[in-house]
Amino acid sequence: MSLSSTLDGAAPETQLQEPHRPTVGFVSLGCPKNLVDSEVMMGLLHRGGAQLTPKAEDAEILVINTCSFIESAKQESVDTILEMVQHKIGNGGKAKRLIVAGCLVERYRDEIIKNIPEVDAVVGTGELEAILEAAGLNRPAQTEQNSPFAILTTAQIDRHASSVNQHSRPEGNGPQLAHELGAPGPSHLGTRDEAATTSRPEGDAREAAGRFSRESWDGATAALPNYLYSDETPRILTTPRASAYIKIAEGCDHPCSFCIIPQLRGKFRSRPIASIVAEAKSLIAQGVREITLIGQDTTCYGEDLPKQEFPGAPFMTRSHRDMSGVEGAGPATILRRPELADLLDALAPLEGLKWLRFLYAYPNKITTRLLETIAKHDTIAKYLDVPLQHASANVLRRMKRGGSADRFLQIIEKARKIVPNLVLRTSFIVGFPGETEADFEELLAFVQAAQIDWLGVFSYSDEEGAGAFDLDQKVPKRTIESRRRKLMKLQQKISTKARKQWIGRELDILVEGESEETELLWQGRSIDQAPEIDGKVLINDFGPHEVLVPGTFYRAEITESHDYDVVARILE
Ligand code: SF4
Repeated sequence: MSLSSTLDGAAPETQLQEPHRPTVGFVSLGCPKNLVDSEVMMGLLHRGGAQLTPKAEDAEILVINTCSFIESAKQESVDTILEMVQHKIGNGGKAKRLIVAGCLVERYRDEIIKNIPEVDAVVGTGELEAILEAAGLNRPAQTEQNSPFAILTTAQIDRHASSVNQHSRPEGNGPQLAHELGAPGPSHLGTRDEAATTSRPEGDAREAAGRFSRESWDGATAALPNYLYSDETPRILTTPRASAYIKIAEGCDHPCSFCIIPQLRGKFRSRPIASIVAEAKSLIAQGVREITLIGQDTTCYGEDLPKQEFPGAPFMTRSHRDMSGVEGAGPATILRRPELADLLDALAPLEGLKWLRFLYAYPNKITTRLLETIAKHDTIAKYLDVPLQHASANVLRRMKRGGSADRFLQIIEKARKIVPNLVLRTSFIVGFPGETEADFEELLAFVQAAQIDWLGVFSYSDEEGAGAFDLDQKVPKRTIESRRRKLMKLQQKISTKARKQWIGRELDILVEGESEETELLWQGRSIDQAPEIDGKVLINDFGPHEVLVPGTFYRAEITESHDYDVVARILE
């Protein structure tokens, strides 16, 4: 009660003063997996009593969720931290607390604290709930009005688009909270989903072989992150309305020698189907119509989950017959671990869902059943994102991935046969140590033969801690860049030709809003284009509409094509 309110005759003592709700500004860098972590941290902060602001100058607490995938991503993370330092009270700004979260913390925890004294706390990727303590907020009990999901598309600080947003692969995650805050270690912070999972034998074997070792890292703890969010974790969506990501698994057990993600994110672990379905239903109830499933490797989904009963095969397999000696139909139910196909079967029929897709498939995990599942549901995009990384068997062996151009062409042929009109996306790394001119020519020949719809090319980046760091025969930077340009030029030709075929097509497009490139056009996507990474449908004619509503589906006709984008007019 304030003195002035009593004198004014206003309601007395019983009137409680509204608690101060600190303003939080959030910057999320890196890939969609990091974005989901940001959305979870924003949800936790919001439920903890904070209000979010898109203006850095208005924020009392600033959070930067960083990426440390490759050198340029690390540099962007550091630059962004230094940019936000300018908004601290001591520098004439309003911010009282500056928190650094994410992958950079996993690798350089001590260095960040030591070299950037303005940073008040660090939060690793395996301890997202520690953001509350880092922000000086308590962890409140969940109330009715605190629904797990909220859509707040302006939650992130308004900045130029992240230059690393185009990763078609993951980056890392990691463990703990700032030492000075005395926060509990990562294992204290798991959610309901975590309890249901176990490790895979591959993960255990690779851990024993040192795959996940972080001991030499600056400030990293030996303990691997094991956090998984659940359908009950609050989350604030920052993606354009109608579209959302769901992270179905975390971590990775693969041995790829160029990648430090397993050290950053920990061993592979999946969320139970029921939790993902519950999250999808909540999102749909909030107006989401397009769901994109993500994880470091979505095709390993379920391999760590407990076995459960599924409807049996309609036909008796040879092994069933041999075991039982009985002829006829297969068993009514079978006990096995869930697979990605089961998850897709559970999600695809959800009422209100229009488009469903998954990203980041591992080539040798694309099963016939998975392809048949994509083919049989109308809501599932006929779209396969499979980062192949290279096509030369020699390079793939050194990358510790395996496979070859011939094997990949067989997989693609089979996928296109089972899923007619399948759209393919992939990414390659050029300049991996030991990549010869002949290896690169083989990659070019593969790309020419495979005619892939969407393709990203990364220049090899030497990362300390990755297996490839110690490999000899490093390729000079200039050669790497010239190979990257050459491959992109080839893909540009393939893409230009393919986009021409789109002219005259009528299709549904999801309108996103004004074009990022010009105010004169609007932009949207067809089901054949994943959010953020593929080409766009630019709209120059609204047809019968005065205005278009972002997040709405419209019927459109493609009228022009460019190298990667197409132009459309709205029909209805
Ligand atoms: S599959 Fe390979 S490249 Fe992808 S996250 Fe796992 S280790 Fe890294």
